[in-house]
Amino acid sequence: MNILDLVRENIKTLMPYSPARDEFTGKAAVYLDANENPYPSPYHRYPDSHQYQLKNIIAGIKGVKQENIFLGNGSDEAIDLLIRAFCEPGVDNVLIPQPTYGMYSVCATINGIETKSLQLAQDFDLDISEIENSYNRNTKLLFLCSPNNPTGNLLSFEKVIHIVKNFKGLVVVDEAYIDFAENGGFLPYLNKFPNLVVLQTLSKAWGLAGLRLGMCFASVDIINILNRIKPPYNISKPSQQIAEKYLTEESMKENYVRLIKAERQNLSDALSMIKAVNVVFPSDANFLLVRFYDSQKVFDHLTSVGIIVRNRSQQKGCEQCLRITIGTPAENKTLIDELQKI
Ligand SMILES: *Cc1c(COP(=O)(O)O)cnc(C)c1O
Repeated sequence: MNILDLVRENIKTLMPYSPARDEFTGKAAVYLDANENPYPSPYHRYPDSHQYQLKNIIAGIKGVKQENIFLGNGSDEAIDLLIRAFCEPGVDNVLIPQPTYGMYSVCATINGIETKSLQLAQDFDLDISEIENSYNRNTKLLFLCSPNNPTGNLLSFEKVIHIVKNFKGLVVVDEAYIDFAENGGFLPYLNKFPNLVVLQTLSKAWGLAGLRLGMCFASVDIINILNRIKPPYNISKPSQQIAEKYLTEESMKENYVRLIKAERQNLSDALSMIKAVNVVFPSDANFLLVRFYDSQKVFDHLTSVGIIVRNRSQQKGCEQCLRITIGTPAENKTLIDELQKI
């Protein structure tokens, strides 16, 4: 499979913008090439558009090569760039098993790309034959989310691999919540499958949603294409510096994960005892999908006492469901106390 055959024609032939600092590599005494302000401040120079230092740290943590990493202003930027690189407006389409994260289809629509939707199976896992019946030769991207938002489950490993092997486009596996899962994700399989793309983020387990740093891992061909079309300085210097600092403290992330997973179990147990609750779905993420008997009533009550959860009951397959992020023990207790009043 040649990835370059999948790229949009205008991107294949694109002459990318070349930032000033790319025209000269090395160390110089005097930089008069980028119209920066010459008077020193921590930020008077443009940041490294390749984020070499940060990628080096991420490569070490994730056990992948630098050239297999693309960094975005949140993983949302990677989602957008993947669609823009591979999908011809008015011609191509993306396939999205639902219910899932809303950004895939929003990004597709913004870019004039048709979304083909199908339902996940009853247990929120993949239905292989449904998927194979749903794509056509213009389907360039298949978005899979594992653990899935908002349902919380991991997708079956074997089914994902089966699809990656058989689908003739890119399979994007969004692993925003993988740190909270019992099984590892698909990073170890990058080298085997040139059409596999894995998305991760610093927004969840690492506790850095405000930083906006998303990671995209894929074969060199795919990464090079994303680099050709990204805004040159998409990761600011403060973002790079802060990420470098926090990423060297992996034990902090591990600690967050341990706390949140323990609370996930506590909250799940407590919710199961609440009369208003119908089903607490199992979760490999940092949230619980909960089916109530009357989700609107519960949502309204929680809102009225200042507790905000995500109402997912309009999504097909998530009828009467609220998605509840795991909070601190105190926050979770406040939630349970209020639910007991209903
Ligand atoms: C939260 C989340 C993200 C994170 O997006 P960022 O832009 O990196 O903050 C990505 N995918 C899914 C499914 C999410 O739930």
